[in-house]
This record gives sequence, structure tokens and C-alpha cells, in this order.
Amino acid sequence: MLAVVVAYCTVAAIGAALLLTRIEHEAIETREKQIPLILSQTRNAVKIERMSSLVRAVFLTNDRRLERQLQLQIQALAQGFGFDGSPILIDGSKKVAGLAKSIVSAHQQRRDQAAQRAGGQLESSQSLADLSAYEEAMRIIEKMAKETSDNSAFVADDIAAGIQERAVEVRYLVIVFLTIPAILVAMLLALARRHLTAPIVAAIVNLDRIEKDQVLKATTDRPKLKELALIGDAVISYGSTASELRRTNLVLQVLAEKDPLTGLANRRMFEKFLAASILRSTSETGTAILLIDIDHFKAINDRFGHPTGDRCLKSLSDLLANIPDLSNPLAARFGGEEFVVVYDAPCADHAAEYARFLCKKIAQLETTGVDGNTIRFTGSVGVSFTTSSADDPSDLMEKADRALYAAKRSGRDCAVAYSELSNDATARQSHLRS
Ligand code: GH3
Ligand code: MG
Ligand code: MG
Repeated sequence: MLAVVVAYCTVAAIGAALLLTRIEHEAIETREKQIPLILSQTRNAVKIERMSSLVRAVFLTNDRRLERQLQLQIQALAQGFGFDGSPILIDGSKKVAGLAKSIVSAHQQRRDQAAQRAGGQLESSQSLADLSAYEEAMRIIEKMAKETSDNSAFVADDIAAGIQERAVEVRYLVIVFLTIPAILVAMLLALARRHLTAPIVAAIVNLDRIEKDQVLKATTDRPKLKELALIGDAVISYGSTASELRRTNLVLQVLAEKDPLTGLANRRMFEKFLAASILRSTSETGTAILLIDIDHFKAINDRFGHPTGDRCLKSLSDLLANIPDLSNPLAARFGGEEFVVVYDAPCADHAAEYARFLCKKIAQLETTGVDGNTIRFTGSVGVSFTTSSADDPSDLMEKADRALYAAKRSGRDCAVAYSELSNDATARQSHLRS
């Protein structure tokens, strides 16, 4: 298609150049030949008009000297036609000069006859002979005038016809050179839009949709160009790979942040959450940690079996996942039979109070073991609290762990806040394992 358009434009351009060259040559010819011809005819028309006036004057005058002068002027004019006149003009002007001479001679003859009549009055300068010569001269002048105007009209008509012919040619040239190529180019653009731009835009739209995780837009017809069709296919396949990857990432994210047994957040997620909570801490809203450890869990495992132990871990998780009345809480399994709750607490007392409430709730839990036994257990809770956003998360955990250790030492099934510990107690070794 492109090759056709290029070939067409080349042929049209050569045609236009040839036509314009021809128009140029004809314009030169018109300027050099036809315009001078029209000017010459115009000059001849003026001379004929002048000749007509002179002949009329010769016919009407009765003055010998004036007649002579007028006759000479007519002769001079008649010779003037010899340069650029047609045979009709040259012969006609000579005849008119001859007739003017006849009129003058007739006048003279009549004046001589009047003189011979000894004082006889000349009745009129004109006679029948003058009149016929005069009329003949006027007929010839009229013929010459007609010839001149016919010539001018012919030349003018010729020029006009030439111009009209070229105008028609230029009109067709414009149609051929501009309109048809314009239509062809428009068709070419429409084709390019359909077969080039549209598939590219569709691919870009789909890439954007992949980025936003939206459903890909299916194209109705496959691109005709092989390369674009391949790009479209590659985008579709990239889209399905990307959504597959997203699904996998979601699963991985869940696996990376959740404890598989209990469904609670794991230690890794908890540590991220704790760091963010501490950073938010202010004197009005601090961060509290409640570190929970099931009492004598090893004994439960030993007595009822590991699967029942797992059930105990799950029932405690369910309790922690739904603890009420806390601001921004997160419950996580810290490891083994140890759990942790972090939340935005107004003060250390609130955290200690809530920990005691939690101990009671744990003691009230009833877990059905795999053998149908009802298992009850208790938990010990260590509490730490900070209002400083500059505090180290591991320091806060260490304090909660020391408090938990103290709770274990003081008989279990109870909550101890780090702030309640004596210096002695705080100095003792933490039981927390990393
Ligand atoms: P204390 O009151 O001092 O905390 O005593 P304890 O028995 O609870 O503590 P200890 O550290 O001696 O024992 C913890 C036990 O928890 C040992 C381990 O087998 C058990 N345990 C850790 N993870 C799991 C688990 O995922 N499932 C079950 N069933 N048991 C677990
Ligand atoms: Mg433990
Ligand atoms: Mg324990």
C-alpha cells in the first residue's frame, strides 16, 4: 500500500512538473507573440479611426491647402500599415489614400470650373463624384476596422481558450495530485491506526491492568502484523504469570507472617508491629506488652499427648485473637507455648490490670482433648510498658520477660508488671530465649 502511494505521488509530481512547464512556455509565447499582436491591432484600430476622421475632413473641407495637408496625412497613415498590417489593411489603406486623392482632385476640379464661370459662385464643395469616392473610402475603412477587430477578437479568444484549457488541466491536476493522494494517505493512516496503533495501545492498556491487578482486556481480532501479535500474546502470558505470582506472594506473605498452627501472627510479624507501636508512643498513649506463658505445659503434653497440647495452644489463640477493649492490639505466638499481646495502653496500670483480667480468662478456658477429656490450664503473664518512642523493642521484650519470670517464681497463674519488680528481681537472669 505504501509503495502504491509513493509511486502514485511520484507520477503525479512528474505530471504536475510537465504541465507547469508547458503552461510556462505558453505564457512566454503569449507574452512575446500574442500580446504584441493585440497591441498592433489596437494601434491599427487607432490609425483606422484617424484615417476615417481625415477622410471625412477631406470630404467636408473646401480649403485647398487644408485638403492637401489632410491628404498627405492620409498617405502617411496608409504607409504606416505596411509594417504590421494584414493584406486587407495594407491594400485598403492604399485604396483609401487613392480615394482621398480623388476627392481632393474632384474638389479642385469644381473650384476651377467655378473660377472659369467668371465670378460664378461655388454652390457646394461636394459633388456626386466626391460622394461616391467618400462612400467607397468609408466602406473600405469599415472593412479594415472589421478585419482589425476580428483579428484582435481572434487572438484574445485564442488566449482565453488557452487559459481555460490550462485551468481545466490544473483543476484535474489538483484533484489527481492532492485529493486522491490525500484520500490514499487517510486510508493508510486508518489502516496504520487499526493494525499498528490499536494493538500497541491494547498492549499498553493490558500492561497497566497487570500493574493494577485488573482483569485483562481481550482484543476482538488478532493483529495482522506477526510481531504485534507476538507482543500481544506475550503481554497476555505475562499477565497470567503476574497474577499467578501475586497469588503465590499472598500465600507466601501469609506463611511468612502467620503461625500455621494457631493462625495468629508469628514472631516476625510481631516484631515489626512492636517496632511500629513503640515509634507511635507518646506520654498519652504508650506501648504495652503482655507476655503469656502456659503453666506446666510440658506436663499437659506428657499426660494427654502432643495433639491435645496443640488443642490447648489453639484455644488460647482463639481467646487472644478476640480480646476485647484494646486499642490497636496484636496477638502473636511468640514461640512454643509462649504468646504475646501488644497494644496502645494509656498507662502501665492499665496494662497490669488487663494482664490480670487475661489470667482469669485463661484459667476459665476449657479445652476438649483428643480423647474427649476436658483440659484446663493456667498462664502466667509478664507486663512491660513504655511512653518513649526512642525505646528499643528488644529492651521492652526483655522487661516483659523478667516480669514473666517473676510471675512464674511467685507461683504462676498470675500477672506481674516490670514496674512492680524490686531491683533484685530485675537483676536476675531473664528466662526469655531468643
Ligand atoms: P513453665 O510453667 O515453667 O512454663 O513450664 P512448662 O512446662 O510450660 O515449660 P517448659 O519450657 O518446660 O515446656 C514447654 C513445653 O512446650 C515443651 C514443649 O514440648 C512444648 N511445646 C512447644 N511447642 C509445642 C507445640 O507446638 N505443641 C505442643 N503440643 N507442645 C509444644
Ligand atoms: Mg515457656
Ligand atoms: Mg510454660
